[in-house]
Amino acid sequence: MITFLSGGTGTPKLLRGVQRIMDRHEISVVVNTAEDIWISGNHISPDLDTVMYLFSGILNTDTWWGIRNDTFTTHDDAQRLGIDEFIAIGDRDRAVHIARGEMLRNGMRLTNVTKVLCDRFGVRENVLPMTDTEIITQVRTDLGLIHFQEYWVRAKGALDIYDVVRTFVDPPAATEEVLAAIEASDAVVIGPSNPITSILPILECEGLRTGLNNKCLIAISPFIGDAPVSGPAAALMRARGFEPSSKGTFSCYHGLVDIFIQDIRDPVDIGGSVRFDTLMTDEKKSVALAQEVLRLAGLC
Ligand code: GDP
Repeated sequence: MITFLSGGTGTPKLLRGVQRIMDRHEISVVVNTAEDIWISGNHISPDLDTVMYLFSGILNTDTWWGIRNDTFTTHDDAQRLGIDEFIAIGDRDRAVHIARGEMLRNGMRLTNVTKVLCDRFGVRENVLPMTDTEIITQVRTDLGLIHFQEYWVRAKGALDIYDVVRTFVDPPAATEEVLAAIEASDAVVIGPSNPITSILPILECEGLRTGLNNKCLIAISPFIGDAPVSGPAAALMRARGFEPSSKGTFSCYHGLVDIFIQDIRDPVDIGGSVRFDTLMTDEKKSVALAQEVLRLAGLC
């Protein structure tokens, strides 16, 4: 068994390769939920949705969110009725958010809700939210503290950010399912996800770091030089006091990583790191990187 820590783009690209070459029952994924948000009364968990749709074969891999060939009739009509739905939600995607919202309102744990949804989508991998506690990532901007999605989706990232703040009522704790998956794993892989908004929220869950003790941990950098392959990671890293680079990424995971993977093009030098082509521009490249990662995991 291998456990992956995942956000909603970089690590899912790696998982696209992993699922082609590994027994699906041997794959566990601990998914970030700190970008979750309630919209129009329903519960969006962007990273859980992406991982679930990927494993069920319906993910829109042009965008890495939403369901392939989805329609947006409800979203368009809601906008016309004056509902401020700043995230474009597809009709089929919305059905998932409605179902998740209903189950949560009825008192189910997010872990169990995810299991129900994954079963209905025929997902055989073990997909686990990092915690059952609601947690929100906000960024401090000139407009004040706003939800990360307001910054990234509504404002298209065109705001200066000065801090990244996590808010919650109860401190998030890693679930027993997450700790059991890690315990049963030969290796844990931090995919090339955004360190600040995707991976640190997982590592910050109570009990998680202790659970990783004595586990072989492989991490893949989402940076090449001073820029991430995509997305707002650089601004977020700066706001949290980390250099936006593989070096900053390595510092984020300080003391945890046994094997650090950088891209072959990355000019930043980190002693002892392993180099591969990490740009997963198509499925073949995802499979090639997955093969290297699983080979390293086998050496752990
Ligand atoms: P989010 O939840 O949508 O932000 O997605 P993640 O946190 O999982 O992934 C975002 C990160 O993926 C960004 O920082 C990108 O630099 C990184 N990324 C995306 N595609 C690739 C790729 O093909 N290779 C590498 N190395 N990183 C990638």
